[in-house]
Amino acid sequence: MQIQWFPGHMNKARNEVKAIIPKVDLLIEVLDARIPYSSENPMIRQLRGATPALKLLAKSDLANSKLTDQWLDWHNQRNGIQAKAVSTKNRSGIKEIPNTLFDLLPEEKRNRKSLLAMIAGVPNVGKSTLINILAGRTVAKTGNEPAVTKGQQKIVIGNGITLLDTPGMLWPKVENPKSGLRLAAVGSVKDTAMEYEDVAAFIVNHLLKHRPEVATDFYQFDSPALDMIDFFDRLGQKRGCLGKSGVVDYERVSRIIVTDFRKAALGKITLETPEEIQKEIADLEIELARKSDQKEAKKAARKARFKARNKNRNR
Ligand code: GDP
Repeated sequence: MQIQWFPGHMNKARNEVKAIIPKVDLLIEVLDARIPYSSENPMIRQLRGATPALKLLAKSDLANSKLTDQWLDWHNQRNGIQAKAVSTKNRSGIKEIPNTLFDLLPEEKRNRKSLLAMIAGVPNVGKSTLINILAGRTVAKTGNEPAVTKGQQKIVIGNGITLLDTPGMLWPKVENPKSGLRLAAVGSVKDTAMEYEDVAAFIVNHLLKHRPEVATDFYQFDSPALDMIDFFDRLGQKRGCLGKSGVVDYERVSRIIVTDFRKAALGKITLETPEEIQKEIADLEIELARKSDQKEAKKAARKARFKARNKNRNR
């Protein structure tokens, strides 16, 4: 599943981010701890330059804590980046944020008493809830639907810190289809822009590979699910998701799976590991190179045809 935006929107967003970055001292990117790579904005990754960044792995109460540690290490190895796990549910990791921000300032700004930080994050990641806690008052609208926050806003949160809140939904084409599915699984993509069946299939495949016990322990199957279709069929039968002729209604089963995943009823599940992502990035590079070669070959063939036609005409 690829998430794509109109090129006009994409350019506008890119120009906005490009204009903001030189004006701020730091970047704060709120990531979803269940998808610490796929929820990172590739545009910020490309345009950050030397600006220090704090990556907050939010909703860490919903993620697998071992994998959260692996992802913190992964992010912390990058230049100028500090990563921390936070949760607004159990309030962990939030109190330390102001000090961490000042510590991240470059040498020449170390004695500063105030700073301006841009804060960004994919929709529904918990950015507004976090800002409200940091500010100690309600300054940002919260909600369970993507893209509630719109328009830039400066928010003074105390301790000399001002946040520049950026609009919710701004990132270019997500090239990796699996990242698109992961974003949809955690609820960062509007329901109207995703197919429940695709997202549920992704979640079930992940469960079969990493947490097969969910079928028997949570959904109470008599025996482990054999494969994805078996999982869907048996859950459909169990929950009475059947159409007129008794055929399993996959759409209804899919909604149950996605909803259960989102509220962590299936357990604390992180949908990507650093190794998986490394492999996906490598595969994607090969695929993009193949597409680019194909495009070049087509262009060359068109050019050759054009040349040949004109040669004939000029005879
Ligand atoms: P935004 O779109 O990024 O501004 O996200 P919101 O702050 O509006 O939060 C989206 C949803 O996630 C709301 O239902 C919040 O209650 C919930 N939420 C926010 N932070 C956390 C967290 O740390 N843990 C859990 N479990 N839910 C959270």
